[in-house]
Parts: sequence; structure tokens; C-alpha cells
Amino acid sequence: MGDVGRKVPERFDVIVVGAGPAGCAASYMLAKSGFKVLLLERGRGPGSKELYGGRIYAQPLRDVWPDLDKKAPIHRWVTKERFSFTWGSRVVTLEYRVGRSVSFTTYLPEMAKWMADRATEAGALLVDEVVVDDIVVRDGRVVGVRSGTDFLRADVVIDAEGVNRILLEKLGLAERLDPGKVAIGAKEVLRVGEGAINDRLGLSKKEGLAWLVAGDVTEGVPGGGFIYTMKDTISVGIVLHVGRAVEAAEKGFLRTSIHGMVEKLRLHNYFKQIWGDADVVEYGGHLTIEGGLGLVPKKLYMDGFLVVGDAAGLLLNTGYTIRGVDFAVTSGKLAAETVVEAFNVGGPTEENLSVYESKLKSSFVWRELVKHRGISEIMSDPYYFTVLPALLTSLLKKLFEADYEEPTIMDAVFEAASEEDISIAKLLLKLASVVGRV
Ligand SMILES: Cc1cc2nc3c(=O)[nH]c(=O)nc-3n(C[C@H](O)[C@H](O)[C@H](O)COP(=O)(O)OP(=O)(O)OC[C@H]3O[C@@H](n4cnc5c(N)ncnc54)[C@H](O)[C@@H]3O)c2cc1C
Repeated sequence: MGDVGRKVPERFDVIVVGAGPAGCAASYMLAKSGFKVLLLERGRGPGSKELYGGRIYAQPLRDVWPDLDKKAPIHRWVTKERFSFTWGSRVVTLEYRVGRSVSFTTYLPEMAKWMADRATEAGALLVDEVVVDDIVVRDGRVVGVRSGTDFLRADVVIDAEGVNRILLEKLGLAERLDPGKVAIGAKEVLRVGEGAINDRLGLSKKEGLAWLVAGDVTEGVPGGGFIYTMKDTISVGIVLHVGRAVEAAEKGFLRTSIHGMVEKLRLHNYFKQIWGDADVVEYGGHLTIEGGLGLVPKKLYMDGFLVVGDAAGLLLNTGYTIRGVDFAVTSGKLAAETVVEAFNVGGPTEENLSVYESKLKSSFVWRELVKHRGISEIMSDPYYFTVLPALLTSLLKKLFEADYEEPTIMDAVFEAASEEDISIAKLLLKLASVVGRV
């Protein structure tokens, strides 16, 4: 018997692999319903391997934890949304002051720990520093997991391993990760101080800012920058489309590493005024889903098995919002409900667990992914990440940097396009092709 075998009983109703948002939500809901749940996490403590941007949409989490607003480690409620295009020294920024805050900022490791604590308080057993090596299948049905020499038996295994989904691949339910469907993210956490953040960004106590940036911060590679205010720190990062980054590097267009890009964003004159020379207190990187339905596995269930969260390919990146955590939590909740219902009607057979797919497909998560499916094509097209920021910043230069005579708007458009070597006809055709898809 190995380490895990010594620590825990051999048999569980449900084993959940991965204590991220999806796994914690599923474990909490199942433990609350009286199931004997084992939550396995490879990191030292839940959340220790987590990295994301910084903002979570609240309502889907309240559906699982109604006391979220009072009890969760919320840093700030987002009251300001900003979007910037950068090109050289020119920056165009759009700011929206929200009427009603629907999202908050927090560190994902803190949030995952809070969620895991809710699961253990409800009765789930969490064992960390355990890597699940295999999901064990016998006679076509999942019967447990293997970690080293330990075999742990369960009636149901919920795979919440996140985007890398090595276990799902081994099970034959997912292909090897396609670089065209994933993005890589890197970020730094800057210690700025609560007062300085509020003063410099015009925020009052507990108010937060979410800021996305597109343009030459990624050297024209699809992706972008992000800036989120925490209580007394600011998270600054870059996300890059992996497939496009590799293409650009092979063609010699991409010369900066992703960490170099984060540093450039931190040192950018326009953004730097917010954090000055604040210390970098943390940095890291993580893979993420590019968005859309491209990474959803062919099947989300088997006899005794369900897959949730990033492992199930459930993330939406519209370019102006990123929704991963709330989708993960919702899928965890739906998986838990499916398991409870399956036990009420005879057990976790493939047929009974297939209800999960129907539940997911009638949830807001699926509707969002279907509704915004055209966006992933746009989000992976370098054209929009070069032409739009170049044209927009050049257009504003024409309109606002005239010494004597100002051009008309139409003249400014054509002059800017000619200066940036952009074909207006091609731009119009490209824009026409996306109408109806965004
Ligand atoms: C750069 C970046 C920025 C992002 N920004 C945002 C954002 O601002 N807002 C948002 O909502 N989403 C964002 N996301 C996406 C969000 O982080 C994910 O959608 C979310 O964390 C998915 O939750 P999950 O539980 O499915 O997987 P994860 O959070 O990845 O959790 C999986 C867990 O499983 C564990 N695990 C994996 N394999 C094993 C194994 N074999 N054995 C045991 N344990 C295992 C891991 O250690 C991990 O703890 C971002 C992601 C990145 C990378």
C-alpha cells in the first residue's frame, strides 16, 4: 500500500480529481448531499498550482454558495471596465463605469482554498500532494483512480484536472492538446498599496478595475494584456495564442518571450504611472483554453465518470471578458446534481450520467459558448490584433494632433489607412464577415 492508501479508506462514493473551482464545487455539493467524497489535489494545498487573471463573475458562484458575498475572500467589486488599444507610444482607452457590479477580483489560490474549505466542512475528505496517474476502467466502467501503487475505488470519478487533461487523454475521451486551441498566460503581481491604487485609478474602498489591452503589447500575436486591481496589489499579465505565437516565432516576427512582454507592459509609460516602481511580489504562468467549443471532448460522461471545468473545455474568452471560474463552478454543480439524481434512479450508469450533458447543454454556460462561437475565429486571427490598433491609434493621431488644419473624419480614416498600409476594402470585407458572429 502506498502513501494515499495509508491515509484514506479504500472506497468512496465519489472521487474528485483536482481541487480547482470545478472540483471544489462538485465536492461541496455532493458532500452536502451526504455522499462520501474524496477530493484529490496534486499541489500542496488547494489552489497552490492555480494561476489566472483576476476577476470572477459572482452570480453562478452564489448559486452554489449563497453566502459568497459575506464569506468569500473577495478583494474588490469591479466598478470600472477599461479596454485599451496600444500601438507604439499611442494608446486609445475606453472606460465604462458600471451601474451594477457583477464581478469581483480575488487571487485564485485564495478562492480555491475557500471553496475547498467549504467542501471539507460539508464532509468531503481532501488529500493534497497526491497526483492521480490514471482513471481506472474495468469492463467499460470507471471504478476508481490510481496514484502510484494505490488504487482507490469509487462508484463515480469526476475529472476536474483542468486544462492539461492528461487523464482525459489517457481515457481516450480527448485528443492531445491542439496548440491552435490553447493560450499561454503569464502574470506578475505588483505591490502598490491600497491607498495608491484607489487614488491613481479613482476607486473608492472595495471598488475594483478590470482592464484588457490589445495591440502591440503582444507584438501583433492574438492575445492581449490584462490588469486587475486586488486589495493592495495589481495583477499585470499577458495571454498569447499558442499556435499563432509559434507561427510568428517561426517566421521571425515574434522576438520577445511572454515574460518579456509582461515586463514591457509593466514598464510601458502609459500604464506605469499607475504602479510606478512597485515591487513584483509574485510571478507565474499557466495554460488556458483559447475559448469557444473547440476543446469540448467528444463525450463528457462514461459509466461511473464525468468531466467538468477546464478539462471539459468550458471557457469563454470574448476579448473583453474571460469566464472560466464561473463556468467551472457551474459544471461542477451540474455534475454533482447529476450524480445525486443517478443514485436515486438506480446508480451511476452511463445512461443515468448522460443527463449531465443535457443539463450542461441547457445551462447558461453552453448557451454562452454556442452564442459566442464565432469569436474564437476572430480571437485567433492576427489581422485584428495588428490592423485595428494601428488604424484606430493612427486615426486619433490625425484627429487630435493637428497643428493648424484638422482633417475631416473620412479624410483622417483614409490618411491613417494609407500611413499604416491598410486596405480599407479588405478591412470592410473582414468586418462584414464577422457581422452576425459577434
Ligand atoms: C492567464 C489566465 C488568465 C485567466 N483569467 C481568468 C479570469 O480572469 N477569470 C476567470 O473566470 N477565469 C480566468 N482564467 C481561467 C480559469 O483560471 C479557469 O477556467 C479555471 O481555473 C478552471 O477551473 P478548473 O477547476 O476546471 O481547473 P483548475 O483551476 O485548473 O484546477 C485543476 C486542479 O486540478 C489539479 N490537478 C490536475 N491534475 C491532477 C492530477 N493528476 N491529480 C491531482 N490533482 C490534479 C491541479 O493542481 C488544479 O488544482 C484564466 C486562466 C489563465 C491561465
